[in-house]
Order: sequence, then structure tokens, then C-alpha cells
Amino acid sequence: MALDKEIKEQLKQYLQLLEGDVLIKVSAGSDSVSQDMLALLDELVGMSSRISVEKAELERTPSFSVNRPGEDTGIVFAGVPLGHEFTSLVLALLQVSGRAPKVDQQVIDDIKAIHGEYRFETFVSLSCHNCPDVVQALNVMSVLNPGISHTMIDGAAFKQEAESRDVMAVPSVFLNGEFFGGGRMSIEEIVAKLGGGPSASELSDKEPFDVLVVGGGPAGASAAIYAARKGLRTGIVAERFGGQVMDTVGIENFISVKYTEGPKLAASLEEHVKEYNVDIMKLQRAKSLAKKDWIEVELENDAVLRSKTVIISTGARWRNVGVPGEAEFKNKGVAYCPHCDGPLYAGKRVAVIGGGNSGIEAAIDLAGIASHVTVIEFASELKADAVLQDRLYSLPNTTVIKNAQTKEITGTDKVNGITYIDRESGSEHHVELEGVFVQIGLVPNTEWLGDTVERTRMGEIVIDNRGATNVPGVFAAGDCTNSPYKQIIISMGSGATASLGAFDYLIRN
Ligand SMILES: Cc1cc2nc3c(=O)[nH]c(=O)nc-3n(C[C@H](O)[C@H](O)[C@H](O)COP(=O)(O)OP(=O)(O)OC[C@H]3O[C@@H](n4cnc5c(N)ncnc54)[C@H](O)[C@@H]3O)c2cc1C
Repeated sequence: MALDKEIKEQLKQYLQLLEGDVLIKVSAGSDSVSQDMLALLDELVGMSSRISVEKAELERTPSFSVNRPGEDTGIVFAGVPLGHEFTSLVLALLQVSGRAPKVDQQVIDDIKAIHGEYRFETFVSLSCHNCPDVVQALNVMSVLNPGISHTMIDGAAFKQEAESRDVMAVPSVFLNGEFFGGGRMSIEEIVAKLGGGPSASELSDKEPFDVLVVGGGPAGASAAIYAARKGLRTGIVAERFGGQVMDTVGIENFISVKYTEGPKLAASLEEHVKEYNVDIMKLQRAKSLAKKDWIEVELENDAVLRSKTVIISTGARWRNVGVPGEAEFKNKGVAYCPHCDGPLYAGKRVAVIGGGNSGIEAAIDLAGIASHVTVIEFASELKADAVLQDRLYSLPNTTVIKNAQTKEITGTDKVNGITYIDRESGSEHHVELEGVFVQIGLVPNTEWLGDTVERTRMGEIVIDNRGATNVPGVFAAGDCTNSPYKQIIISMGSGATASLGAFDYLIRN
């Protein structure tokens, strides 16, 4: 399997950045994946004199490890890391050769301080855009800490193993043989899960802020930058920096940027915030807000942050369908991200719940992979744009069921079907299938506010045209508010508005 010319050129340039020798140990057989892997390694050797390859017996065949001569790093790729994982391979080569990873020094120190043996394995699909972040994070950890090792496993090349370990969503990370976590995880999240990161008392001891932003999506990032640019003492606390943007593949409507991808935009947001004097507190979840002498935000770990003003920008999350089986079979046949988990349903039967734009886009996407796609829509008509509906109806392996109320997602150890009620006749129907993708919109992340701040019936925070809520000094922005349209550029604009509103409030009070 030859790399295309453009990739080869890029790769050649990257390999010039190798700082030391890299020894690749390879375990290959006569199967076609092994042959593809050997061809890829041959290309690498041909491009850089710093890379050498030797045969070895590794745990899996086909696989290869990336090492320094005389020192195994513990980084293994099982399967051929092309597709979205190609970058993971290039970065592994560079980092093993001695190039410093692009990670904050604090995180590097936290990783080096981890004691014990941590054997990570990550199941990926090569078309999963969430997987490389996890693979690259664990590879960096393996390079930095000799007690940590990591194997990327392409679920398509190791189908039997993926099935025997009940992997039905990627990335799926195992630690020392036990399930560790699924979905996108940042390096900080992994380190925090292993017990690293700041303590509650370190957080509570912080001086009060002028502006404390809760939420690190486009709205929060924009609010923090605007506040810091006014010279205000600014903090931003976020469970997952980047927010929904991290789950987005292509973005074509972020004005002035013709095309970008979610993780890239999220990284730029963080980079831009870091340009300013903003105290970034990642992986921290707010659990309550109270107005006392200061406005106090309490975090899940019981730390209390104090501030003169607060900007709430906690965004929104996928809405659950809320039927029996959904929670039970999450990642065991119930999925929310067709781009990530679609390939695991190759040749299988799936349903998409929801006939809006995201549901029909998912159904079209899945129809190219799955053997059959059933769309289940509650209303009597699909709500998706006509052009999407036309495309869906042109596909031979799709069925649309309207006026259908999902009753249950059934299964034993994993999903085996879906039951719905025909809302017209009241009759109950069951469709046998292996996967259900839930695509029924978003719900605002505002439950943590209790009844401190006025919200609509839908849970959206009510704001005025300066982003102010009904509580003096508390502002809100983005998808968590009652702003009618939920978009990146709109969230950023409202983050700026709320920040300027907070600035005005501070001057007047
Ligand atoms: C799949 C998908 C595709 C999309 N595609 C596009 C597109 O192409 N173009 C476009 O313009 N828009 C798109 N959107 C919409 C866009 O992503 C959102 O409108 C935008 O991200 C909203 O920004 P936000 O900052 O308000 O909230 P979010 O992005 O939801 O960010 C919320 C932030 O708050 C944090 N948070 C939540 N609860 C807490 C808590 N209790 N404590 C601390 N932190 C918390 C989160 O971790 C996150 O950092 C898409 C959305 C999705 C899901």
C-alpha cells in the first residue's frame, strides 16, 4: 500500500525534524494488514536514516512499537495507523526521537510524578476524529513516564478482540485490562483521573476574581478574553475546554475561516485565552452558585471560588431520549456520535432517533456503512431540510418511520432492538438491530444553578441585551441562554456582550 504523493511530501518534511534515532520493532504475519503495515514502515525507513526497523514478537500481530535504541517507550500501534491516526504515528516518531511534546510544563511535571504501572490500550477506528487526541495523549504519557505504556488498537483490524471486550464505541480506553473511559479525553483529564491536578484547597485559596467565567466553550473563551483585555482579574473554570466544538467535525460557517475542524478551533480558543492573564481552571465542574458578599461558585470537589461578577457559559449537551435501555446500553449499542462510532456498525443494522437536520445527516452518513438504517421520528413529518430528506429517500437501505414514539431500547449485554409505538394506531412494533444513534437535539447545562438564576421552561437562562441575568453581577452567554440561535459565532458574540456588560457593572458598582 503506497502513501499518496502529497502525504509522502509532508511526511518527509516532518521526519526531518527527528532529533534522535528511532527503532521500530515489528510483529507481522502474512495477512494483508501485516503487508500494509510493512509497506508503511518501509516507506518510513526510506525517508529517514534515523529510523530503523527490526522484527520482534509483540503481544499482537500485526503491530509495531516505537522506541529509542536500547529503551522501549511502551508505544505500540496494533493495525496500520493511517486515516486520522496518521498524525498520531508522526507525533510518536518525533516525540520518541526527543522532540518535546506540546504540553504545559505543569502537565509534564504531573505526568512524571505518577507512580506505578499503567498499561493502557485504546480501541480506535481510523475514521474517528475523537480518537487521535486520546491516542496522542497516552503516547505522550508513555514517552514521559517509564511506568506508562500504551497500545493503539484499530478495532477494524482486531475485530474479534474488540467484540470480545464489548467495544461498541471508540475511543474505548482500557487500563491494566479494565475499562478506563470512553470518548474524547484530554491529557489533563487522563492525568486528573489518575489522581493528578490541583487540590480543592489550592483552588479555594485563590484571591477573588473581578470576572469569573464558568464554561470554556466559544462563549466562555470570548468572555474571558474580553474581560482580560479590560485589565480585569479574570478566571475561567471549565469541565472540558472547547465545549461542543470538540464534538464537531467540519465547521464552514465560522465567518472569515472557510473551513476548520472542531478540535483545531478548540485548540485556537485555548491558545488565544492563554495569550492573556487568565487563570484557567480546567476539568473542574461547578455545582452551585450563591450571591453573598462575593458571588461564590462551588465546584464538585467542594472548592469555592469567589468573584465580583460571574459569566455563566456552560453551554448544552446531547439530549437523551430517556427510555429504558438508553443509559444501560450507552456505548454498548447506544451512541450519540455517528462520525466516531459509525464504523463500528459496518454491515450491521442501526436506527437513528430524530428526524431533524442532525438526525438525517447521521442517517445518510450511516447508510454508507451500516447494512440498514431506520429513522424514527416522533412527529408526523421529518424536520430536516428538504435537500437532506431528498438525499435520504434516494438511498436504498433506509426506512423512515414517522409518528413513532420510542418506548424502549432492548438488549441483553448489548443492544438487540428498539421498540416503538405507532402514535396513530397505538400499536407497538419492534425492530431488530445492533445500534441506536440518538439525535434529538440539545439540553442546556444549567441544572447546577438550582433556582438562583431565572430560567425558561426549557432550562435556558434568561438574559437581557447586555447578557445580564436577574441576579445583579451574574451574566450569561451562549447556548445555555434563551438566545434563539445556537451557533459558534453567536456564542462568541454573546460572550463578548456579557463580558462588556460585566465590565459596565463593575464600573458602576
Ligand atoms: C455535533 C455538533 C456540530 C456543530 N456544528 C456547528 C457548526 O458547524 N457551526 C456552528 O456555528 N455551530 C455548530 N454547533 C453548535 C456550536 O458548537 C455551539 O453553538 C457552541 O459550541 C456553543 O458554545 P457555548 O460556549 O455556549 O457552549 P459549549 O460549546 O457547550 O461549551 C460549554 C462549556 O461549559 C463547560 N461546562 C458545562 N457545564 C459545566 C459546569 N457545571 N461547570 C464547569 N464547566 C461546565 C463545558 O465543559 C464547556 O467547556 C455544533 C454543535 C454540535 C454538537
